[in-house]
Amino acid sequence: SGAIIVFHDISELKRLERVRRDFVANVSHELRTPLTTIKGYSETILTNKKTDPQTSIKFLEVILKNADHMAQMVEDLLSLSRLESGKQQFSPARVNAADALNEAFRTCDHLAGTKRITLSTTLPEEGVPVRADFDRLVQVFRNLVENAVKYSPEESSISVDYRIDSTEAIFGVSDLGPGIPKEDTVRIFERFYRVEKHRAKSGHIGSSGLGLAICKHIVERLGGRIWVENRKDADTGSTFYFSLPAENGQIES
Ligand code: ADP
Repeated sequence: SGAIIVFHDISELKRLERVRRDFVANVSHELRTPLTTIKGYSETILTNKKTDPQTSIKFLEVILKNADHMAQMVEDLLSLSRLESGKQQFSPARVNAADALNEAFRTCDHLAGTKRITLSTTLPEEGVPVRADFDRLVQVFRNLVENAVKYSPEESSISVDYRIDSTEAIFGVSDLGPGIPKEDTVRIFERFYRVEKHRAKSGHIGSSGLGLAICKHIVERLGGRIWVENRKDADTGSTFYFSLPAENGQIES
């Protein structure tokens, strides 16, 4: 099926071309930074034969951490390309959103711990039934919580809330980070888009500008919407919301 995209505005076409060019530059840069570290540390271990074992272990840990960042970036690239090409398999079923969130919390626990950030949720233990693909839902929660942790100051808190009506469940991931400038609230969901002034700060954490684009693809594919608002209950920070079709009744365990 050949989709035809009509660009009413040549400047929009130019903007998209610029986004693509920026992406190639960004990805190359983001991959080169950890690669340089990996090379540097392994060369040091190899050339300084007298390095004591404890130091070697520290260096190996740095190498592993940087390799992990690279692996995550490549994973995100592949994930987005599978979603965009329609090759990603979706198996929507009745699932418990609270289970998906718990799984996402588990993968963000370590990073949150190093910044002494608390993760909490009002999702009830008996669960929130939604229609979704479980693994993809975990991916959405993980990206949003990971971002919240990444952009939050140390010793702050992140909370995940929800509301539900007869047709949809809406989840909100709130942080106390810098928030999103008004002019960027739509574009941050485009692939490769990053808020200019956050770029330098998130430096070593491996940022690709892909996470939110992946979330948007998944949520829309599942019949929901995703958006961001600045916190109304705090002076700073943002809440990332997404909706999913609700399922009636209790979750059987
Ligand atoms: P990245 O890998 O850069 O985090 P994302 O697609 O997940 O990519 O996010 C796009 C951009 O949106 C980020 O680069 C950052 O500038 C901004 N952003 C995302 N989440 C948050 C947040 N919780 N608080 C502040 N800014 C955020």
